[in-house]
Amino acid sequence: MEIVKEIDVRSIMTKSSLPVGGYSVNPYVGCTHACKYCYASFMKRFTGHLEPWGTFLDVKNWKPIVDPHKYDGQRIVIGSVTDGYNEFEEEFGRTRRLLEELQGSEAEIMICTKSDLVLRDLDLLKRFRKVTISWSVNTLDETFRADMDRAVSIARRLEAMKQVYNAGIRAVCFISPIFPGITDAKAIIERVKDYADLVWLENLNLRGQFKTGIMDYIREKHPNLVGLYETIYNENRTEYWRTLETEISEYARSHGYPYCVNDLPYGRSEKGKPAIVNYFYHEKIRLNK
Ligand code: SF4
Repeated sequence: MEIVKEIDVRSIMTKSSLPVGGYSVNPYVGCTHACKYCYASFMKRFTGHLEPWGTFLDVKNWKPIVDPHKYDGQRIVIGSVTDGYNEFEEEFGRTRRLLEELQGSEAEIMICTKSDLVLRDLDLLKRFRKVTISWSVNTLDETFRADMDRAVSIARRLEAMKQVYNAGIRAVCFISPIFPGITDAKAIIERVKDYADLVWLENLNLRGQFKTGIMDYIREKHPNLVGLYETIYNENRTEYWRTLETEISEYARSHGYPYCVNDLPYGRSEKGKPAIVNYFYHEKIRLNK
């Protein structure tokens, strides 16, 4: 049961603290997808909400953006700590409003979602020169997906990815978070290779407050993996990720997929040859090598 209310904010654009700069934009506070591993749930303590993460949503009202050119050349990430296409976007249309206000800007738009509602806004998105839309897909198994989040099915995410790709917009399959022993990254890449420009890979990080919930889930549903999870998340060993990194880079090489560990400049990939970008905690892994 969600608690949804409207709030007034001064500005919708937040300067990003990331080294790459740019802006992050979250038209909502909270996220009704309620992913069990949500890295953004730390936000709750800044929201004044006492309810559990995933059960509240504040819908932002902001003063209209008067000069979209202010953001020319900047990267604007929509949905860093919410999903701008959560189910309430259908009713409130805040992400659509944002895209309308940014029309004419030469900003690079990047959208992170677990929904297919973004298809509604293809008309607006096509008018920007640089747009990237990424869908988080860490499984092809709908049961595991439903255990982990309340967003739309994997089938709907993949269908949306295909339509966006075919509409000429850069599409990303974000395999995140990779659950050791559960996520089959290669099977996902095989599935999306013809309609993803990029595949991003990110490991499951259990430093957050959700660690207990995930460990309990593994004990209950995947008892055979308890030892592996304890090695990774209690003993902080990185062999699993190093081995997986090697496996995926060899797999990419054997299939002719470009493979790297850094952000790539904006561009489309050759059809059937998605570029694979590995964002495993690479600094740590490389230092340990
Ligand atoms: S979609 Fe993203 S922000 Fe929303 S609950 Fe899931 S991980 Fe958190």
